[in-house]
Amino acid sequence: MAQVLQIQAQLITSPIPSSVVDPNLIAVKLIGACADHANVRQAALIFAHLASPNIFAHNATLKALAQNSHWFHAIQFFNHQVSSPNAPNPDEFTFTSVLKACAGLAHVVNGQKIHAMVTKQGFESNLFVRNSLIDMYFKAGYLLIARHLFDEMFVRDVVSWNTLVSGYCLCGCADEARWVFDRMREKNFVSWSTLISGYARMGRLEDARRLFDEMPERNVVCWNAMIAGYAQNEKYSDAIEVFRMMQQFGGVVPNDVTLVSVLPACAHLGALDLGKWIDGFISRRGMALGLFLGNALADMYAKCGCIAEARRVFNKMEERDVISWSIIICGLAMYGHADEAFGCFYEMLDCGVKPNDVVFMGLLTACTHAGLVKKGLNCFNTMDKEYGVSPKVEHYGCVVDLLSRAGELDKAEDMISSMPMKPNVIIWGALLGGCRIYRDSGRGQRVVQHILELDSDHSGSYVYLANVYSSMGRLDDAAKCRLRMRENGVLRTPGCSWIEVDNTVYEFFMGDLSHPESNKIYSMIRELMWKMKLAGYKPKTDLVVHSIDEEEKEDALSIHSEKLAIAFGLISTSEGTTIRVVKNLRICNDCHDAAKIISGIVKREIIVRDRSRFHHFKDGVCTCSDYW
Ligand code: ZN
Ligand code: ZN
Repeated sequence: MAQVLQIQAQLITSPIPSSVVDPNLIAVKLIGACADHANVRQAALIFAHLASPNIFAHNATLKALAQNSHWFHAIQFFNHQVSSPNAPNPDEFTFTSVLKACAGLAHVVNGQKIHAMVTKQGFESNLFVRNSLIDMYFKAGYLLIARHLFDEMFVRDVVSWNTLVSGYCLCGCADEARWVFDRMREKNFVSWSTLISGYARMGRLEDARRLFDEMPERNVVCWNAMIAGYAQNEKYSDAIEVFRMMQQFGGVVPNDVTLVSVLPACAHLGALDLGKWIDGFISRRGMALGLFLGNALADMYAKCGCIAEARRVFNKMEERDVISWSIIICGLAMYGHADEAFGCFYEMLDCGVKPNDVVFMGLLTACTHAGLVKKGLNCFNTMDKEYGVSPKVEHYGCVVDLLSRAGELDKAEDMISSMPMKPNVIIWGALLGGCRIYRDSGRGQRVVQHILELDSDHSGSYVYLANVYSSMGRLDDAAKCRLRMRENGVLRTPGCSWIEVDNTVYEFFMGDLSHPESNKIYSMIRELMWKMKLAGYKPKTDLVVHSIDEEEKEDALSIHSEKLAIAFGLISTSEGTTIRVVKNLRICNDCHDAAKIISGIVKREIIVRDRSRFHHFKDGVCTCSDYW
């Protein structure tokens, strides 16, 4: 690229005399190089310096614009070309590129205008142009016209068929796509991966997997289609499983697209070892840390609790956007490092990056986790006024949570009534949490009414009411609430924890007996319980759980998933190894207490990432200082 820039600089300062060599020839090469490096501005600059650009120069520039998704500019460029008297007439390559731009914008009016030109200039039966027309009509949602153009073709190639398959997939017609696919005489990798991605986008993962398994051979695009399909549908363990298959039997090397799909799966499941392996793979292969790959890698480290590593990746990235900054800020927030999160925020402003709503979510969460009421309110009040980011319902939720936890229940309720949008269950739930902690049962009962209006099956409300009634001696009413809650209990998200041991992610549910080493796990738990009792631990088995929207009490048979994961970690890793567990819900009071004591007894660091933050247990204490 440096060389390109150098030649280009010469071109600008001293136009090459046309007697020596055709400037168009050099320009086409330069524009092509710029396009491959997504440097569209340079390509346009080079074009602008040509005294009399020929059709190749026009096409190269148009292609550079279309290929890099500058669709609007591509159409503008085309319109300029056809309206300038001295410009060369468009040919098949011109039409193919501009139709791609129309397809990208799903702009049928422009597309039809170009279609008319295509017909007038006799290109309608040209295979490339025809394929682009079909693609354009599909992307604009005109299925019948697209199909008609396909049916009327004299000659079709595999691209024509693939366009039809992808068109139907795009419109959500998976069965039509399959029908076409089954009638293709010649299929290539694109045909297969298009249909796999199509199925995956519609959530039909079993169909996608069946097709994937049927493939006679696969290239990296096909593997990527299956892995991305699982990752986008939140089937993270399956995404990782297919990635491992690819490495073992695939005979193909993962590329940046593969890694961008696998890294979020690692982040979600806390599969740090695999994430680290991918980091090493990127360095060994000398892969460029572009925006997508860099962000995915930094996010994986941040979500696995390695904020310093996340920052190292961030510093190494070739370019950064607001997402890159938000990854670091939110990562710090999940650890409750409010000062560092704000420090990073100011650094971002100094770099001239405009904050977005995710950044403010990170800052507010940091304040909530650290209990910084004044700072949080200040941040909330300035986000719209100073930075032009209007607060969404999540931001209000964060502030209500912050105020409720700090015992400012009046202010929290005022905040809810001042909201420009309708408060949701999560917002009322945050206030209810405050009512429970500060024993404000009058307000609590009022809040419960609001919640039940929005969600009549809200189990947390029944738990709360049951506790209020029993404390008031209204035992019959309390029993009714518990009954109602049991009836609805099946609808709740089951608590689930993950732990990575020897490059495999293990999944545990409450009271899980499905693990092959179940016996050992449960005897480990019994041993720990006994040692913990000696250390003064009393299990909190009353119905009052820490967080009213989360899990219920446990008995001997229904041990929470995080305890199972911790016990499994202890029996399957060597002494001194840090135990890292990820949980899908908030950790309950009892498991939190247990983890603290266990970290002291076994002399190990235990890191639990729950739904809202990190807990780092060491020597009997947690970094959250019991505030979460
Ligand atoms: Zn628990
Ligand atoms: Zn904690």
